[in-house]
Amino acid sequence: MAINKIGVLGAGTMGAGIAQVCVEAGYTVVLVDIEQSMVDQGLKGIFKNWDKAVSKGKKTEEDVGKFKGLLTSATDNSNFKDCDIVIEAIIENIDIKKKVMKGLDELCKADTILATNTSALSITEIAASTNRPDKVVGMHFFNPVTAMKLVEVIPGAETSEAVVNTVVELSNNIRKEPVPVQESPGFIVNRVLIPYINEAAILYQEGAASAEEIDKAMKLGANMPMGPLALADLIGIDVCLMIMNYFWNEFGDSKYRPALSLKQKERAGHLGRKTGKGFFDYN
Ligand code: NAD
Repeated sequence: MAINKIGVLGAGTMGAGIAQVCVEAGYTVVLVDIEQSMVDQGLKGIFKNWDKAVSKGKKTEEDVGKFKGLLTSATDNSNFKDCDIVIEAIIENIDIKKKVMKGLDELCKADTILATNTSALSITEIAASTNRPDKVVGMHFFNPVTAMKLVEVIPGAETSEAVVNTVVELSNNIRKEPVPVQESPGFIVNRVLIPYINEAAILYQEGAASAEEIDKAMKLGANMPMGPLALADLIGIDVCLMIMNYFWNEFGDSKYRPALSLKQKERAGHLGRKTGKGFFDYN
């Protein structure tokens, strides 16, 4: 399956990064969001990254000119009609993702691959909302997309081997390291990482140590580049909580019970870096 034109749906944190790395690898990309303001913000971030790369001598003006020629944007999904793959990176909500995938299925050409960047949701369930479950696949990038090498490639129950192979090849072409993983809540990284963050949040709520002390201990004692609570703030406390709740519902095992401190911070609107405050204060 040849990939020439890539659609990216959602111009937020992940979608903009995915569009950028695909364009830099020479693919024609259309970046779509429901909100014009998000499209503008996504493009602004991409252009800023390119300006920075030029000023550091990592890219030339000519490179950037070429990239800009490969990238278009829109607020209408009809722009995906001639895409060979559409990578969905919208809000992590199963009902919205299913509705959006159904719409893409009706709109895209018959052989278009529909990939989802979901952090934890079931690929099989998302695929079942379409008439092409064999062409729906998980393509899980990491934040920030431009820096993080990993892409987890997750087939649903009916995803064809050819589609998995195509997405593995595409991941290599955009200079990422694909790791195929069978479907399971949270795949590999979030299955290990989010309960780890949750455990740190439980320690914090027990008053065992301060946020600073917990993070310091994990950096110095486990050689983590960043402490678990600073990482929660970076990912977004709402995102961590949503994934933890998903594990709890899916596995029905109390070891996945979400930490009260995560719930309290979400209820208070302290979602981490994006709101200026979480376990740490960024103001
Ligand atoms: P974000 O909130 O930054 O961006 C989401 C974008 O989707 C917004 O611009 C929003 O306007 C748009 N959107 C919402 N509904 C839409 C619709 N129906 N049609 C078109 N656009 C729509 O979110 P994000 O952090 O980029 O996350 C996107 C996806 O990537 C989620 O599934 C998330 O779980 C996953 N993910 C996030 C991270 C992370 O660290 N942020 C890492 C890996 C995967």
